[in-house]
Formats: sequence, C-alpha cells, structure tokens
Amino acid sequence: MGLLGLTGQGGNGAEPELLDTRDRPLRDLRISVTDRCNFRCAYCMPAEVFGEGYRFLPRKDILRFEEVLRVARLAVSLGVTKLRITGGEPLVRANLSELVAGLAAIPGLQDLALTTNGVLLPDQAGALAEAGLQRVTVSLDSLRPEVFKRTSGGRGEPGQVLAGIAAAEDAGLGPVKINCVVQRDVNQDDLVALARHFRGSGHILRFIEFMDVGTMNAWKLDQVVPAREILERIDAVLPLEPVDPNYDGEVARRYRYRDGSGEIGLIASVTEPFCGGCSRARLSAEGEFVTCLFSRGGRDLKAPLRSGVSDTTLSQMIAGTWTKREDRYSEERSGKAGPRKAGERIEMYRIGG
Ligand code: SAM
Ligand code: SF4
Ligand code: SF4
Repeated sequence: MGLLGLTGQGGNGAEPELLDTRDRPLRDLRISVTDRCNFRCAYCMPAEVFGEGYRFLPRKDILRFEEVLRVARLAVSLGVTKLRITGGEPLVRANLSELVAGLAAIPGLQDLALTTNGVLLPDQAGALAEAGLQRVTVSLDSLRPEVFKRTSGGRGEPGQVLAGIAAAEDAGLGPVKINCVVQRDVNQDDLVALARHFRGSGHILRFIEFMDVGTMNAWKLDQVVPAREILERIDAVLPLEPVDPNYDGEVARRYRYRDGSGEIGLIASVTEPFCGGCSRARLSAEGEFVTCLFSRGGRDLKAPLRSGVSDTTLSQMIAGTWTKREDRYSEERSGKAGPRKAGERIEMYRIGG
C-alpha cells in the first residue's frame, strides 16, 4: 500500500485507488435521502418508538440535493462506481427524480440503484427510470397480509408491494431484486411461498439474515435463521444448485433452480460475514459519512459543506476517513452482540442498510 492508502487504479479508472487499513477499496456509496418512512418495521423503526409525536429531522438538517450531488461526485472521483439511494423510505422525499437525474449524469458512475419498500413505485417508477435510475431493490418479507403487517408495523399490503414491483418492471427497472429479511418465528414459514411466487418471473429473491443493526430491534441470535437453513428449506421443495458470483466481493451467494426457472440469493451477514470484501460507505440524510453499518456515527460533512469548503478539502475529508477505516464488526460480532443502548450505534433508518 502506498502513502495515505493510495495505490493502483480506482474502480472507475480513478487514480490512484483509495484503500482502507485492510486494503479494501471504496467502491459503493449508499445515500440516505430521508429519515422518514411510511412503514414502521419492527426491526428498523418500531411503531412504539416512532409514534405520532416522534420528531424527525427538520428540513434544514437534511442535505439538499446539490449537497448530496457534490459528495457523490467527489466519492466517484475517489473510486466509487455504484450508488444506491435509500432511506428511511427514499420515495417519500419530494422530487427524488431530480436527484436521480443529477446522480445519473456523474461521469464514471457505473451503477445507480434504489432500495424501497415499493408501495410508492406505481406513482414514481416511470419518472425515476426516465431520470436515469438503472435498478431497484424492493423489500418484501411475506406474501401473507397478517405476517406482512406484523413486520411492517401494520402499514401497507403485500399487494401494493407486488404492484410496485410490476410498475418497476414496466418502467424498465427490472429484473428487480427482492429483499426478504428472515426472522425466526415471524416469517420463516413464508420463504417457500415467496420462492414459488418469484420463480420464473426473472426477478431475484434474496434472503437476508436478520441483523443486530441499530439499538431498537432487541435482536437475539436465536431470532436469526441461518442462510444454510434457508437454503435447505427451499432446496427441499425447489431443488437448487450454486452459481458463481457475478463479481469479486458479491455479498449475496447465488443459487439457481435446477429446472432453469431462475435464481435466488442468500445474504449471510451474521453466520458468514463478509467484512473482508466490504467496500461500502454510507451518507446519512443529515450528511454524515459512515464507514460501517454498525458504527456509532460518522464524519460530519454537512458543516463543511455549508461553510464554503473547497472540493479539494472535502475530498481529503472523505479519503482521510476511508484510509483510517478499520471496521469489521460482523467478523467480531460474537464477542460484541448483546443489548445496545441508545446512541451506541447508528440506526438503520438513518443510513438505509
Ligand atoms: N425503506 C427502504 C426499504 O425498506 O427497502 C430502504 C431502507 S431499509 C433500512 C433497507 C433494507 O434494510 C430493507 O431491505 C430492510 O428490510 C433492511 N433491514 C432493515 N433492518 C434490518 C435488520 N435488522 N436486519 C437485516 N436487514 C434489515
Ligand atoms: Fe421503513 Fe425500510 Fe425501515 Fe421498514 S426497513 S421501517 S420500510 S426504512
Ligand atoms: Fe461492512 Fe461493517 Fe457490515 Fe463488516 S459489519 S460487512 S465492515 S458494514
């Protein structure tokens, strides 16, 4: 590794490449555009905490689109090739397609995606695709209304999410990735039905192990259904075989149905952590640059952005934070997981997964 962790060539031809203390490049940036959401998923924004009186960030504390674009442009010049827009629920942010258009125009960017709960996609998919969005990931934990409501905090219906997926496909944003967070004794019996539903559709269903993110979901290891068990449950009914990764460091392990009717992914964040290849940073809605899903917080970029910082200095702030990065929480989890106090860890709805 060279001086300041700079070496080789960046992911988009940016030179030289920026590496952290474990030689991991900065390749992905997840941009949270709001801390608000139209759902109250128990594992993310439980309704009893985020009730009527909950005070979300005031407008002035949220990065404006031009501020997000500036950070994104610099991140791409430092080697980022993939941007993902997330939240909270990104589709509740007004005029989101304006931001998409700005991001899509960044030279050197290779992939622009968005993660959503899907219910607002029927209204917005067309405009987002037109603005330059390339792909969407839609979250869906169950097709059964009663289980869905249990996970979403009583908001929305599976039919609305399915309509959102169809709208994304019609707008040219397919194939859609569908994320299902698997929780023991909540939706473990829904997995085969989900697999059957999406088999043959061209969409890719991905099962994610329930993680101890944030401080609010009272996570316990026995609520995690290991990826191995998820695989066995599906394979017993719909036989599967492994597929090679699409690229080095792909987070989801791929399997395809032996009858050729499509593929699924397994994200074993708990039982088989992938910190060694983790090239992701996150930008929170209020402008913190965060280097791990399990960080306490991040480096504030909003204050410098609003006090006339130059691009060179802002870029050095991002690069300097990345080159000092040591994070590998999921590999160390066994000694650390347990009850968490407020403030001890950044919340998922602030950085968007
Ligand atoms: N609101 C959008 C959505 O739900 O897709 C985007 C933000 S949400 C925080 C991003 C992803 O994180 C969703 O797929 C959600 O299911 C996932 N997620 C939230 N809490 C999680 C947890 N404790 N473990 C694993 N995944 C989680
Ligand atoms: Fe909202 Fe997504 Fe969190 Fe559910 S997981 S509460 S949809 S931000
Ligand atoms: Fe990356 Fe942190 Fe998750 Fe490890 S725990 S994969 S370093 S975000």
